[in-house]
Amino acid sequence: CFSSCSPKVCIVGSGPAGFYTAQHLIKQHVHVDIYERLPVPFGLVRFGVAPDHPEVKNVINTFTQTAKHSRCSFYGNVNVGKDVSVQELQRAYHAVVLSYGAEGNRTMGVPGEGLAGVYSAKDFVGWYNGLPSCRQLSPDLSCETAVILGQGNVALDVARVLLSPVDMLKETDITQPALEALAHSQVRRVLIVGRRGPVQVAFTIKVDLPRPRKRLTELMLKTALQTPGETEQERRDQASRTWGLRFFRSPVEVLADPERHRTAGIRLAVTRLEGSGEAARAVLTGDVEDVTCGLVISSIGYKSLPIDQSVPFDSKSAIVPNTMGRIKQAPGLYCSGWLKTGPTGVIATTMNNSFDTARSLLDDMESGVLDLSAAKSGSQVITALLEQRGVKPVSFSDWEKIDRVEMSRGEASGKPREKLLTVEEMLHVART
Ligand code: FAD
Repeated sequence: CFSSCSPKVCIVGSGPAGFYTAQHLIKQHVHVDIYERLPVPFGLVRFGVAPDHPEVKNVINTFTQTAKHSRCSFYGNVNVGKDVSVQELQRAYHAVVLSYGAEGNRTMGVPGEGLAGVYSAKDFVGWYNGLPSCRQLSPDLSCETAVILGQGNVALDVARVLLSPVDMLKETDITQPALEALAHSQVRRVLIVGRRGPVQVAFTIKVDLPRPRKRLTELMLKTALQTPGETEQERRDQASRTWGLRFFRSPVEVLADPERHRTAGIRLAVTRLEGSGEAARAVLTGDVEDVTCGLVISSIGYKSLPIDQSVPFDSKSAIVPNTMGRIKQAPGLYCSGWLKTGPTGVIATTMNNSFDTARSLLDDMESGVLDLSAAKSGSQVITALLEQRGVKPVSFSDWEKIDRVEMSRGEASGKPREKLLTVEEMLHVART
């Protein structure tokens, strides 16, 4: 029955997890429909990956091939949990895979966190990458020192964007408003602060070495301890912008200026390590240190959010509880990507865990755990529901219209693309 019943699966979210899950499923004669909240696909590949890392975005070519496959369809501009419920999707499909990522962020939970001048890295990244909900952020870059809290890859991206010469950024797909704000930025010094030490930092390196952690630590120590050569010293002395890593510090309070209008600094507690290696815990020593800064960006992690009451959600670990991608106590429901594992790992990690989820689903089809005996109406019934609710999905060829407009606008200014910045404009272009 496996092929004759043409199993219908729907995927919620069109980031790497959604596309890699789809890619694996369509190889097995499954029909896949992808529902995406925004009118544009690709999730964090478009809205997260730094503009100066264009090579990372090449995965879009593979995703595009998947989207154009005869057994795959894309429905953008559909907010699952609001426009259509997960239960309605479950009734229309043999199985539903949730791959909607991690759109919230962890907060520091310290006084002053709400002051002007404090931003989450998630919003800051969304702003320079053109995420419609972050368009209005307009961060104030009129201060000299910025402090980034958290020492992961995202913190490094933000530091690089803050410090890169605008001449370099203007050749990327960074948004025009971000480019203009950065051109007038007064930020000259960026400190990247972490609770633990150099051995525990969460950066990853590009090359896949057998022991990347050891290599990374060696690299950092070598750079930090090495006496620079003459040319290098000269280059450093002349640098107009600097950055540094500050270890063993944990935020206690964002300090306000005397009028309490905005951020004037940050109080950091000095920590020391208990235990060793990656499991080491930072404990407070009782000492504090104040750093003067006008910009604080907290980069302490993304966080998945529940989108539908009918789906089990573990709010403590902020993931959907699952075994190998099978959502616990919810037959027919699966998850992949950051929603499944928590918000860690690069696209390759997301790819592997998405293939694993697709394998679990295919196993369940083959073993009869998933009932394929009844034909399902799939997108037919869902698009009818959406129409009743006044929601008009964006197809993949509609997205290609947006893509073409963005690329031609980019070409005019020497950039790979100039992103459309509002949902309204995206929908307008999609429908003309
Ligand atoms: P996402 O990419 O977030 O995709 C989720 C999708 O679901 C989004 O399109 C979203 O709009 C959609 N969605 C959300 N809610 C709903 C809903 N209710 N209904 C329908 N759709 C919904 N990895 C690398 O390998 N290299 C890098 O350089 C790199 N840089 C990064 C930079 C940043 C700032 C971040 C945050 C991550 C970076 N990563 C990088 C990691 C990579 O982006 C993730 O591994 C990957 O995007 C996770 O995929 P996902 O599909 O689970 O989530």
